[in-house]
Amino acid sequence: MCHNLLQDPAFFRFLSRIDAELAAEARRCRCPHCAGPLHVADYPRKPRGCPVAVRAEYAHRLSFTCGWCETRTTPASVRFLGRRVYVALALMLVSPQGGIAARAVADRLAVSPRTLSRWRTWWRHIFPTTPFWRSARARFLSPVASERLPESLWARFGAPTCPERMAQILVFLSPLGSTTMGA
Ligand SMILES: [Zn+2]
Repeated sequence: MCHNLLQDPAFFRFLSRIDAELAAEARRCRCPHCAGPLHVADYPRKPRGCPVAVRAEYAHRLSFTCGWCETRTTPASVRFLGRRVYVALALMLVSPQGGIAARAVADRLAVSPRTLSRWRTWWRHIFPTTPFWRSARARFLSPVASERLPESLWARFGAPTCPERMAQILVFLSPLGSTTMGA
């Protein structure tokens, strides 16, 4: 997988634009509970794993509250997976089972061994049990090896370039960070 994307501000900005579209779509659909209007109520973030050049634009997780029932709606995101401080891209690249490139990324991002072990547990044991994965895996023609996640996803997306393929996977995983499919 393309580890140098972690140092590519242009790729991070591209992901920000996708998140903006996902948020705009959620807002157009209004509150899932009462169909009320959604107002911006972003969560502040201190993101880890992103280049300094984009840290300011990654300092917020896009979110809304309903103007009528005050319920929060957090749209899907290609930048953040749930409440983790590290960006989703880091979770994709660092989690693989101990390859040299993955270890180098973990070192550079100063991911602690404890965090690393938590992420691996999540990919191997928690992610496969999420409602998201239970319904999404049916879309693949042959079974995806859950013991080799997230690498086993890599071969399932066909975009020709590394950034495009990574974006496809992050879009695929993006519902995990939303309030409706939260991991
Ligand atoms: Zn509402």
